[in-house]
Amino acid sequence: MKVIAIPQLSDNYAYLIIDPATREAGIVDCAEVAPILEAVDREGATLTAILPTHHHFDHVGGNEELLAARPGLTVYGFDDRVPGLTDRVGHGDRVRVGSLEAEVLSIPAHTTGHIAYYFEREHAVFTGDTLFAGGCGRLFEGDAAMMIASLRKLRDLPDDTKVYFGHEYTVKNLDFALTLEPQNRVLRDKRAWAATTTGDGGYTTPTTIASEKDTNPFFRWQSPELRATLAAKFPDLPMEDVAVFAKTRQLKDNF
Ligand code: ZN
Ligand code: FE
Repeated sequence: MKVIAIPQLSDNYAYLIIDPATREAGIVDCAEVAPILEAVDREGATLTAILPTHHHFDHVGGNEELLAARPGLTVYGFDDRVPGLTDRVGHGDRVRVGSLEAEVLSIPAHTTGHIAYYFEREHAVFTGDTLFAGGCGRLFEGDAAMMIASLRKLRDLPDDTKVYFGHEYTVKNLDFALTLEPQNRVLRDKRAWAATTTGDGGYTTPTTIASEKDTNPFFRWQSPELRATLAAKFPDLPMEDVAVFAKTRQLKDNF
């Protein structure tokens, strides 16, 4: 499987997935069509499917235009709010791009219909706005308990799974993470790497499940240092998973 990250709008990523065996391709999220078709043509690929993670405009805003340009595309999705939806899929269902296969994971909370595409054989997952490098999505249509359940499904994937996320928010996410775990050396190193990488015009995608376990405060609600930081600032905060996660999310909302 070849994956090409295609910047969209100000800080979004769409991902072109190409099956080397058949040259068939799918696009995970689509906001701006021109750079996507440019990549498809440059790769000599045939686009067969759109794989939207959720219905927000910056992830599906280009669907109708892409369908007009390449009629007959399969548009997967769980949420009826996805424009052009042709194949409704739910948790555990399978989607195909050429000979590549992914399992659909239902990961609600940013939106109720948010899904991920998990390519088991390739150890790759596309997480949209649920899991970012160093962060997670805002809770627009769910609560902290729902988001923890969604993130657990991702955290349970193999450590070496590559995580392709929806926005280049990494440096700011890691700056926030450092306010909670200033002594986390892996986190400090990753923040420095991310700043250098994006400063040079590069991308921090993909990350891995292992790296997120080490650095992402929204995977680390059990971290002693994170809990100690919160306990010092909020003496009345109950030290249990949902409360710790909810407080972390609330602080990030205002960071
Ligand atoms: Zn979104
Ligand atoms: Fe988004």
